[in-house]
Amino acid sequence: ASNAKFFVGGNWKCNGSVANVRKLVDELNSGSVPRGVDIICAPPFIYIDYVMQHLDKEKYQLAAQNCWISGNGAYTGEVSAEQLQDFGVPWVILGHSERRSLCGENNEVVAKKTAHALAAGLGVIACVGETLDQRNSGSMFQILNAQMQALVDEVKDWSKVVIAYEPVWAIGTGVVATPEQAQEVHAYLRKFCQSKLGTSIADKLRIIYGGSVNDANCKELSFQEDIDGFLVGGASLKGSSFVTICNAAG
Ligand code: PEP
Repeated sequence: ASNAKFFVGGNWKCNGSVANVRKLVDELNSGSVPRGVDIICAPPFIYIDYVMQHLDKEKYQLAAQNCWISGNGAYTGEVSAEQLQDFGVPWVILGHSERRSLCGENNEVVAKKTAHALAAGLGVIACVGETLDQRNSGSMFQILNAQMQALVDEVKDWSKVVIAYEPVWAIGTGVVATPEQAQEVHAYLRKFCQSKLGTSIADKLRIIYGGSVNDANCKELSFQEDIDGFLVGGASLKGSSFVTICNAAG
């Protein structure tokens, strides 16, 4: 990892029940996690209130998994960044590959959402990543360029942005990127940001890896120079696994 503060996010996705969430919160609260790591838990919207009331905020911060592209209004079914801010949720995950592929969010939408959420005062975990086809056909860097350039065009202040590199082929598949594969892309993304934003912003930017991270593979990944943390899906639903990953800071 670089000198940036290590960052671990748990994306619970559309999982959980009242009983499961209670159990997970209890497991997380009893876990021992390092103070010097930013640890973020992202429950489904409907459980955020419960988690906010019961999760140990000395250890963990909250995130939403999505928010609307603009402020409050006639947007049935949506939650705005302003509402998250008002409710005390400091972070939001935007541009997750599931939202890109299942909900039709393109680069421009993700970038506009990111800029709006930042303007509302939130921190943003912005996700990028290529599919297996794109990697195999040699268009990976082109895809990443387009995803990143859209963000560069919209974001003015990068101090509250975390970039999550999540190769789509590694998400929820059990096929984790090798440390070398992840490092190659993280270094590339950092270089891209250096050239577009300058070294002082790029060197401070947290670039975290996501895609089948678990308690067994996190340590090796964390040793890579440009891996500043993780975004964790499946393994964030098990308290003991997530706590182990939070302790992996390289
Ligand atoms: C994710 O959805 O952000 C993710 C990385 O999922 P998983 O860890 O389950 O691959």
